[in-house]
Amino acid sequence: MSDKMPILFIGHGSPMNIVLKNDFTDTLHQWGKALPTPKAVLIISAHWLSRSTKVACTEKPKTIYDFYGFPKELYTIKYECPGSPEVANRIVETINRIPIECDLNWGLDHGAWSVMHHLYPNAQIPTFQMSIDYDFSGYVNKPLKYHYELGKELAFLREQGVLIIGSGNIVHNLYLIDFNDIDAKVHDWALEFDDFVKKALERKEHYKLLEFQQFGKPAMLSVPTWDHYLPLIYVVAMQEEFETCKFIHEGFQYGSVSMRAFQIDNMN
Ligand code: ZN
Repeated sequence: MSDKMPILFIGHGSPMNIVLKNDFTDTLHQWGKALPTPKAVLIISAHWLSRSTKVACTEKPKTIYDFYGFPKELYTIKYECPGSPEVANRIVETINRIPIECDLNWGLDHGAWSVMHHLYPNAQIPTFQMSIDYDFSGYVNKPLKYHYELGKELAFLREQGVLIIGSGNIVHNLYLIDFNDIDAKVHDWALEFDDFVKKALERKEHYKLLEFQQFGKPAMLSVPTWDHYLPLIYVVAMQEEFETCKFIHEGFQYGSVSMRAFQIDNMN
């Protein structure tokens, strides 16, 4: 075993998972116990999008309630871990190819804290986020390759005890979702695209993930906007040639949200 930290991708799904106990949240609890203890956690979440790349340099990240219309209980839960301005600054200093700014306000959005709440319930590990350069409207977005190259440049942190987590969803369609039934029948196109990504991960065919639109209609319906797909691109970019992908969780919620989660490292 090397000292290199694994890399994780977690499909976070609905904020309801913060308070639910189900096979997904049980998996996160078990997973957290099995992982090596990191010096810090860096999360690239679908819910911090900005028109440049930023890292949160906050000492005490606040819990961000960036979801609306959910039960009151969800807005009373806090995840009060320390931040890691030290590691965040190391990213700013090390990556010079593109400008990366230190952000002094951002805490932890629900893509970050909803999974950390189950993975590391004690909230003792310094945790911080990096934003994704992306905008929904009118802005010419960077190609997926841009994010892939930036992901590669973050890989040095793995040797420094930093656990990097991409938090999004491989299939995420809120237009065709069944909000009333967490166990709703899964759409065929959702199953097809999730399986397409699974096979590409097993075969280390990153080019297929970068050209996912070639998969046609199931891809378009599964990834109507890139925000929840982009964290996956950052994670696979850090995979070394000898490393493999282990699926920790598979399944769907609400018929159109893939909860697939995986770990990449050298299992041998
Ligand atoms: Zn989300």
